[in-house]
Amino acid sequence: MNPLTRRLAIVGAIGFMVQGGVGFRVPGSGYRVLGSGFSVLRAEQARGVRPAPAAPRPAPAPSTAKQNPEPRTQNPEPGTLSPEPSSTLNPEPISVRVGFQSANGKYSVVTLPMETYVARVLAGEAARGSQPAALEALAIAIRTFALANRGRHRADGFDLCDQTHCQVVRAAVAATERAAQATAGRVLLRNGAPASIYFSASCGGHTEIPSDVWPGHEDPSYLPARDDDACDGAPAWAAELRASDLLKALRAGGFRGERLRDLRITARNVSGRVSRLALDGLKPDVISGADLRTVVGRTLGWQHIKSAAFTVRKEGDAFHFSGHGSGHGVGLCVIGSVRLAERGTDADQILARYYPGLEISKMTPTAAMLAARIAPAPPPSMRATGAPRPPVPDVLVSLPDDDEGEHDAILQQTTRARDELARTLGVAAPATLTLRFHPTTDEYERATGRPWFTSGTYVDGELHLLPLAALRDRGVLEQTVRHELVHLMTDSALEARPQWVREGAALYFADPAASPPVGSARPSCPDDNELLRPVSAGALSNAFARARACFARQIQSGKAWRDVK
Ligand SMILES: [Zn+2]
Ligand SMILES: [Zn+2]
Repeated sequence: MNPLTRRLAIVGAIGFMVQGGVGFRVPGSGYRVLGSGFSVLRAEQARGVRPAPAAPRPAPAPSTAKQNPEPRTQNPEPGTLSPEPSSTLNPEPISVRVGFQSANGKYSVVTLPMETYVARVLAGEAARGSQPAALEALAIAIRTFALANRGRHRADGFDLCDQTHCQVVRAAVAATERAAQATAGRVLLRNGAPASIYFSASCGGHTEIPSDVWPGHEDPSYLPARDDDACDGAPAWAAELRASDLLKALRAGGFRGERLRDLRITARNVSGRVSRLALDGLKPDVISGADLRTVVGRTLGWQHIKSAAFTVRKEGDAFHFSGHGSGHGVGLCVIGSVRLAERGTDADQILARYYPGLEISKMTPTAAMLAARIAPAPPPSMRATGAPRPPVPDVLVSLPDDDEGEHDAILQQTTRARDELARTLGVAAPATLTLRFHPTTDEYERATGRPWFTSGTYVDGELHLLPLAALRDRGVLEQTVRHELVHLMTDSALEARPQWVREGAALYFADPAASPPVGSARPSCPDDNELLRPVSAGALSNAFARARACFARQIQSGKAWRDVK
């Protein structure tokens, strides 16, 4: 059984044993467990349910990284909409192109009118039995998310997927249709444009700022870290994980080592969540609380470590976790909103509480917004002139589930590195660039056919990369991206040279300052096999060091990179 199938099986087996926990879907069963006093929804039998008009509910897809049994972990990335309103003569109703994922991992694309989409996502994301005010608040958040994130799946040919990666789409029920209609067109605005917002199942009593979940993310004032007495810390949860299972999850996430001797919390952030843990016996030997939750969730199931607000102690061969909340905790707290609605708080007040300072307003679709929907990639001529900035980025970053919040920081870093390297190398920047970060090392190895220690490699013109947590915690994220960018920009010019020249160029320009001064001894340059088919991580790093030294020696003697041979 592959790891994902195994994970789904575990979730399926114990889904209904969760008590007081916040819901997660039980893959393939049609059930969704909703915690803390919510009822269990069987969508197929719920009153008012009508069949989905298109694209049947996808079965678990063993071959895909997208399937994720955790609820409401939608991680919006900042929108790509152009905020300038422009005149529009006949505004058509906004629609959303939704990619429904099928069992084979492929998407079928269905275009839904915005309010149909909102009603269906409410069915996928809201707590069953929510009061109308809670549904309406979430409807506005869902609509805002959809507008701010249209084009997120541009590389896949649609706007948003139907998985937790974007927003979960289910069959609408009467209550969710009413909430969508009651709030039709209303969105949360920041400077006149749909705001980049988040919501999670439960903040566990304290909301979180984005950068504490996704390093490098901006922290707008409308997403503060604050006490939340509405959810009151619910749900409290506990989990016990064997050291061997934790090791398995960490290794899948790109961490290396044979034994996890200990796991200790070394820092907490302002909201009290775990910001750093020491991993005794592994490399890298640190991990953030959010990353630990993600690597465990992806490999062992999301029902174990529900949030980064936990304590952990070792007992014999196992680690005991206990904590509060469910999900990343940024933005609206779904459990909190349900309880606020029960106390008579209306939708606008709920939103003002969780997104302070944002304007809630009816938005009329503008030409700019409509144009932002899956615009085709701009023609190369447009980019070459550099004059009109293309409305869509020409660097596409594809991240799994809980890493989405880091999209913007990675996009900026990559774009900067690309432009800087193009100048340094004196070549044109590649017209488009797609970066795909894999959720686990297994997925990376399967997709690329390359071993984990290669970190990054090109397949079909796309740059595939190891899980983000592993690259970042090892401190090699930027270097790895730069390394692959240099390959992209220099490999064709160096095509006829030995492999060490191409690899040496990538290593040298990825981090020129790191090249040691070349000694008098002539380095022995690695042969092609050493670089193309390394037998181990150690062998590859040795071959890399020699390739770099061979390349640096010629550059430092005054040769241009194109002339190294
Ligand atoms: Zn998605
Ligand atoms: Zn809360």
